[in-house]
Amino acid sequence: MAKKHVYYFGAGKAEGNKEMKDILGGKGANLAEMAGLGLPVPPGFTVSTEVCTLFNKNKQRIPEVVKREIERNLGRLEKTVGQGFGDPRNPLLVSVRSGARASMPGMMDTILNLGLNEKTAEALVAKTGNDRFVYDSYRRFVQMYGDVVLGLKPVHKDDLDPFEVIIERKKRELGIHSDTDLTAADLRDLVARFKAAIKEKTGHEFPADPMKQLWGAIGAVFCSWMNDRAVAYRKLYNIPETWGTAVNVQTMVFGNMGLDSGTGVAFTRDAATGENTFYGEYLMNAQGEDVVAGIRTPLPIADLRQDDPKAYAELEKIRHILEKHFRDMMDIEFTIQQGRLYMLQCRVGKRTAFAAIKIAVDMVDEKLISEREALARIEPDQLNQLLRPVFDYAEKEAAVKAGRLLAKGLNAGPGAASGRIVFNSVDAEAWAKQGKQVILTRIETSPEDIKGMSVAEGILTARGGMTSHAALVARQMGKVCVAGCGELAIDYAQRRITVKGKTLNEGDWISIDGTTGQVIEGKVNTKPSEVLQVLVEKTLDPAKAFVYQTFAKVMAWADRFRTLKIRTNADQPDQSRNAVAFGAEGIGLCRTEHMFFGEGKIGPMREMILADTLDERKAALAKLLPLQRHDFAGIFEVMDGRPVTIRTIDPPLHEFLPHEEKDQRALAAQMGIPFEKVRERVEALHEFNPMLGFRGCRLGIIYPEITEMQARAIFEAAAETKKKGIEVEPEVMIPLVGHVKELANQEKIVRRTAEAVMKKQGVRFKYLVGTMIEIPRGAITADEIATVAEFFSFGTNDLTQTTLGVSRDDAGRFLIPYVEKEIYAKDPFEVIDREGVGQLMRMAVEKGRATRPGIKLGICGEHGGEPSSVEFCHLIGLNYVSCSPFRVPIARLAAARAALLNAAKPAAKKAVKKRPPARKAAKARKKARRR
Ligand code: ADP
Ligand code: MG
Ligand code: MG
Repeated sequence: MAKKHVYYFGAGKAEGNKEMKDILGGKGANLAEMAGLGLPVPPGFTVSTEVCTLFNKNKQRIPEVVKREIERNLGRLEKTVGQGFGDPRNPLLVSVRSGARASMPGMMDTILNLGLNEKTAEALVAKTGNDRFVYDSYRRFVQMYGDVVLGLKPVHKDDLDPFEVIIERKKRELGIHSDTDLTAADLRDLVARFKAAIKEKTGHEFPADPMKQLWGAIGAVFCSWMNDRAVAYRKLYNIPETWGTAVNVQTMVFGNMGLDSGTGVAFTRDAATGENTFYGEYLMNAQGEDVVAGIRTPLPIADLRQDDPKAYAELEKIRHILEKHFRDMMDIEFTIQQGRLYMLQCRVGKRTAFAAIKIAVDMVDEKLISEREALARIEPDQLNQLLRPVFDYAEKEAAVKAGRLLAKGLNAGPGAASGRIVFNSVDAEAWAKQGKQVILTRIETSPEDIKGMSVAEGILTARGGMTSHAALVARQMGKVCVAGCGELAIDYAQRRITVKGKTLNEGDWISIDGTTGQVIEGKVNTKPSEVLQVLVEKTLDPAKAFVYQTFAKVMAWADRFRTLKIRTNADQPDQSRNAVAFGAEGIGLCRTEHMFFGEGKIGPMREMILADTLDERKAALAKLLPLQRHDFAGIFEVMDGRPVTIRTIDPPLHEFLPHEEKDQRALAAQMGIPFEKVRERVEALHEFNPMLGFRGCRLGIIYPEITEMQARAIFEAAAETKKKGIEVEPEVMIPLVGHVKELANQEKIVRRTAEAVMKKQGVRFKYLVGTMIEIPRGAITADEIATVAEFFSFGTNDLTQTTLGVSRDDAGRFLIPYVEKEIYAKDPFEVIDREGVGQLMRMAVEKGRATRPGIKLGICGEHGGEPSSVEFCHLIGLNYVSCSPFRVPIARLAAARAALLNAAKPAAKKAVKKRPPARKAAKARKKARRR
């Protein structure tokens, strides 16, 4: 049998269906599907995408066999509708519409009313008695055909369409303003003028023969697949040229036959809020894209209920049929011809992140989709929209319109914040104490800024990327952050920012949108998300919080399917409390050094670093001990028996000392030591490569008393908590281990201290000693390290730095171009580099388990909250991922999706069987046909 190239649809039957998008394109496949459902689709046929390929290979000619097939289908169409194409008594008119697999702007525009010429136009006048309608259709046809097929459409969209120029001239001559004031005779004259213009521009008569018109239009659609706009678009979105476009030839229905006719577009639910309300617009006495063209203002779909109750009721019915059948929110096009409704297109509707979640959840409640499908439809990052404070939308729009948008940086910490500009941590604290909202504005941040960051509403930096210090800490704290906003010139000395010729001073209001990266001058009001108001602030009744309820459902389903545990990176009791509220099952990384920056702690810390003798150092450590113990006790209490991984000191010591002479002098005076001594110590601690320098376990090996103090603080806090009747599960984690002997050295100190504390306090508790795997040697010798380590936690920030030999803090200049040049598909500090870093992780997992089958395995790098990396962790068999508190819900969902997507085959089969669509769809089809 010869290959089929043309697929017919109409009158309750269709040769295609929605699964055939590859050969019918999206539009054709869904037209066939709707026709098959018995919906009122004007009959027609689709010429397959394969013909597009043949056409462009065959010197842009339609192969003869295909032409014959098209003619046969045209014949069938004529018979179905009882009209003849080009028939001078009862003419058939068609539309010619393009439609590729993916919707593609840049493709050929649709041509309506094809088949009109002087004779068929008169026949139509005789038949309908409506000459205005006929000549309105005719002038539209000549214009569209002239623009699209004959190439009169201007290349630049700002240039005037020659036909519009003619219409304008005509209206001026007549002294009228609106197109609707043009009479049938006026429109008829326009047709003549259009044709003359075409003759003049192309040297050819406008084709009167409908068949000639049809071949021209079909050819133009196929040609448009190769036009510059389409080629550029495909390149941008990685659409292969081999896909081709289909052509749909469809019987015309007319929305321009008078006030009983019209046309519209709609979404089966609100695409912005996700609410289950019909959402759309229409215009009476209009055709094609009049609704979206902006010439006349369309009416809200609800008004159709009055304008044409019968058509509206029918449309409502179809809305439900389509949702039931496609099991998704749909975007539809329809036309009403003299009170009769016709469906012209449907496709899955685009929606906001917020609507995506709401719709998925509602559709589970409505039993349209399963929980699994709902989870598959929600991108984990979309959850951010439910968690972050938000700007008052109208207020922000108004600000942008008023020219208050200053710049755009990286959307490093989602959410919205507004506050007064301050330029350093000390001011931030002081102002915040006075009850002022502040935005900490820095060229970049360092650990010294932690306190300022924690009191600020948001953080704005001029330098640094998505994983810069500011971004990292902001996300952990759940702070709004716009980072790397290079357009801002920040002058610390003058305490001002200049940008776009404007100057903003300390104390001026500024607003930052960490979801979009926008920086806006002045104040824009915000409100916290409902989820936060319920879970953390407990200021909102969950029963009244609809966003929260949606969130809670998604989380409950996610927890049912995921196998990974989710922990959090937190080093303060309140952070930990938030994380638990968000569903954290433990702490995967408590960075003890952050604690040293807290109230009253930096002093003894600096004393410790400046100490000359062991005794002096021990004296300073003795001051730190109770402070740390107190912090740990607070965390243990909040975590209530959940495991808590505490990392011993990690950063190089110079990070704790001031670097400005002024500050060094102040420190010396405060400590009663000579300034030179402070300066000398800072210089002595200077390193060329701090990332590879004196840090991590190296500190504890050279200064064992530091490790001992920290272990003591941890275990004493554990004992204290346990005595209060609260369970504890401390896990002491030694950073930057490359050699098993490093770990063994530190482990001995930790275990000795643990025993001593337990004995002295008279309580016993379980604890683990383990390590981070964050340098390649650690991964490579993981089997040896596992002889000592009871757990591994992958520190993928450092592991990525050391595996790639790239310093994250210096990578900005080349890493973004690297990603642009597709050397790395994604920023490896954001998404785990599976082929490189990932292989080391996999190796360490295998080697670790070979030595110690029960070894606990997790990840605590920033990757732990990034969906694709979470999936990788699932694939290599980690026990948990740990991420910043505000990413915990995202990780829960990502873990569930990883489990669902990578489920063993038999489980997946079962899931398919459980779904009811086949039977339901058949029922729906039967029902639709009966109507
Ligand atoms: P696009 O791909 O740009 O959406 P379409 O092929 O959907 O283009 O057509 C553009 C407009 O023309 C739509 O509003 C559609 O409803 C209308 N249209 C297309 N075919 C017909 C037809 N046979 N009868 C009436 N209107 C039609
Ligand atoms: Mg269009
Ligand atoms: Mg359309």
